[in-house]
Amino acid sequence: MPNEPVFLVRPIFRCCEPVENSPRRRCARPAPWSSPADTPRHITFRCDDHKRENDRPVELDALFRRVSITAEILYSGISMDQTAAIAEALATLELAVEQSGGLLNLHTTHSAIGRWKATAPLRSSIAASGDRT
Ligand SMILES: [Zn+2]
Repeated sequence: MPNEPVFLVRPIFRCCEPVENSPRRRCARPAPWSSPADTPRHITFRCDDHKRENDRPVELDALFRRVSITAEILYSGISMDQTAAIAEALATLELAVEQSGGLLNLHTTHSAIGRWKATAPLRSSIAASGDRT
């Protein structure tokens, strides 16, 4: 692939072996082995437990698909202090991401102080409004 991008940061390679009879769940442990493939689309990575006979050690500059997920993660702060609350939440998230084989690329943080208010069940809010339609 002549026009492939060059990544300056690479998460660990993770094992592709299916687990738990689910098409979406994979072993995902660190994978030092790679299966030979005719096309880049069929390259797979495997851990020591799932290594196959023809697998080879993964080359440091191996071609791989890097997945980036943009999401909003919400935690309740461990403190009303903004700095302490954000620092603890980031440490918790970073650990979870690292344990799953990912790398956290932090863009921004926000925090606010507020109160949760449960929404009324649908029937109660209709009766309270007097709307019978
Ligand atoms: Zn595995």
